Amino acid sequence: KAKAPDKWVRTTCGYCGVGCGMYIGVKDGNAVYSKGDPLHPVNMGTLCPKGLSEHEMVRADSRVPAPLIRKNGTLTPSGWDEAFSKVSAEFKRIQNEHGKGAVAVISTGQLLTEEFYALGKFVQLGLGTNNYDGNTTLCMASAVMGYKQTFGSDGPTGSYEDFSKADVILLIGANIADNHPILKLHIAKNKKMTGKKPTIIVVDPRKSKTSQMADIFVPLKPRSDLALLNGLCYIIMEQGWEDEKFIKERTNGYKAFRKHIMNNYPPQEVAHITGIDVKELYNLAKIYATADAAMSAWTMGVNQSSIGTDTVSAICNLALITGNLGREGASPMSITGQCNAMGTREFGFTSSIPGYRNYASAQDRKAFADIIGVPEEIIPTKRGYAYPQIIDAINRGEIKALWVVATNPLVSYPDQNGLREALKKLDLLVVQDAFLSDTAEIADVVFAAATWSEKEGCYTNSERRCNYAKRAIDPLGTTKSDLDIVLEFSKYFDGVHEMLFKELSTPEDLFNEIKKVSKGQLCDYSGMSYALIEELGGIQWPCNEKAPKGTKRLYSEEMPCSTPDGKANLLPVDWQPLSEMQCKGLPLMLNTGRTVEQFHTRTKTGTIGILDNLAPEAWVDLSPKDAAKLKVKSGDRIAISGTRGRVEDVIVKVSETVREGNIFVPFHFNEQLINAVTIPEFDPKSFEPNYKQCAVQLHSA
Ligand code: SF4
Repeated sequence: KAKAPDKWVRTTCGYCGVGCGMYIGVKDGNAVYSKGDPLHPVNMGTLCPKGLSEHEMVRADSRVPAPLIRKNGTLTPSGWDEAFSKVSAEFKRIQNEHGKGAVAVISTGQLLTEEFYALGKFVQLGLGTNNYDGNTTLCMASAVMGYKQTFGSDGPTGSYEDFSKADVILLIGANIADNHPILKLHIAKNKKMTGKKPTIIVVDPRKSKTSQMADIFVPLKPRSDLALLNGLCYIIMEQGWEDEKFIKERTNGYKAFRKHIMNNYPPQEVAHITGIDVKELYNLAKIYATADAAMSAWTMGVNQSSIGTDTVSAICNLALITGNLGREGASPMSITGQCNAMGTREFGFTSSIPGYRNYASAQDRKAFADIIGVPEEIIPTKRGYAYPQIIDAINRGEIKALWVVATNPLVSYPDQNGLREALKKLDLLVVQDAFLSDTAEIADVVFAAATWSEKEGCYTNSERRCNYAKRAIDPLGTTKSDLDIVLEFSKYFDGVHEMLFKELSTPEDLFNEIKKVSKGQLCDYSGMSYALIEELGGIQWPCNEKAPKGTKRLYSEEMPCSTPDGKANLLPVDWQPLSEMQCKGLPLMLNTGRTVEQFHTRTKTGTIGILDNLAPEAWVDLSPKDAAKLKVKSGDRIAISGTRGRVEDVIVKVSETVREGNIFVPFHFNEQLINAVTIPEFDPKSFEPNYKQCAVQLHSA
């Protein structure tokens, strides 16, 4: 009773891409409770353990209450003017001496859309460097590029409602039970509403928690998903189960696609690559192809691969040849990682100009420049370096200053030893964060940011639903919202604030500019307002005069794709073996992933006692046979090494969840930094890292 809140503030969860609606309980100016919003269409009153304890991280000891500047080797509290003056002077010196591109910025889907838009605008048009990327490249970039090459544009095609309407749900590389737990509600709703159970197919090399809800579990070999998808297409076309009308009216490239698949992916070959027998391949193909409505959903198991982009297109190919697009229960859906991964994709100024415009298009550049009132010449004509290219350019000495915003590469980036060597070469490392993250600890300057509940704006979730997150309490100490940091920092550069932000001072001002920037584009926000978003419990774009309450599905019969002729591309794409295979010295294949209690690099969840007690450290799942070979048992501590690094003191869990020759380790933990071992290999189209497979060996203590 002593902690009963004075008021409840309606907001949106700030962790993952599910986008749950919730309330923050506020007492004496502090966030003291979190509870689900029963009227929110995404979560219907429920929250996962992270959402339920979210208020606890707001005043954690690891918050940074004021800007910090490194003086005599120690990060020392400072005023904002001193921090902004120091960083702006260094940025100007470096850009004068080495060119505009010598300053690079890496940001994240943790920012609100208004913040990310303002940051991108400032970096690209104010600082004049296009070496700017987001954490999205470590997370969703393959989905972006896969959607682009298939449909002509980024944009998840369906709705969570499709989980409730589908006859078949194919979850591929998607451990939603750990990473997007609230989505299970929509599958449960399916059973209740229709009275008949949908067939749930889970494709994963590991028996994850999600596999336990499967009707059919497909334990394929690591990295063979693209071959499986092509093999299913082969059987569907061989058996005549394809949707000829849909293919003819709504797709391009069928002839070449069919020839490619029939020449290269016969079931016997696919069975050899995937480890799934031919009979089961036929069974899977029949179930998927003959369903009235089949949904497919994927996350990092697909995206975080050096063939991630093409695997996304292979998922879309399967949907397209069976007509599973743009209908209730029939959509290929990427499930995003961070709370605002979508907002960053739509307006982030990273892989495209805000509003899904192309850097290479003079028409798109002019349209954007005209809307925001800047000279067309300052809009970049091409994308700058993506995240891994920025790290390579630092290594080469080409980039001298790095500004890292709300992300923590010193845990999340692959090949940590390589990364650390690169960062030592910088003249200046600036970290903008609410918490003293691992990366902030080595920074020269820390911009102290406000966090969730201390600021307002929008997050857009995996189903394109723009949700409103409200400010409930005052920011800690002298911290500022990420938006205010950008707006005020821009004043330290001659003419920049006047050019970019003259009449923009609040989140709603930025939101109104975003509405103008998106009007008429696929990601159209022009019909939205903060008030309407609150009233409807979020709105799915496009939202405009034609669709005033938003749009559940893209590419329905009435909505063409963003390709020149409005049809989807059936693309011939190929499976490729791993570059790093198990061998005598490295006999095990490492898979990395996440657990429900922790979020990303634990800067937030690591401060919450109940979550950290439930998952206090990394572990290694090891098959009983491998455990016997190594003579270790559950509870023993071992080391893991590969060609790039070594991780000590990892506790063993002997488990049937991994098959012989494979291990699994969660990546959240800086104490057992598994990304010291992972491979710096990237998808050539999306630049997304291949986190999920590399060869390692174990060493018993
Ligand atoms: Fe927050 Fe995601 Fe959990 Fe929902 S599922 S409460 S959005 S972390």
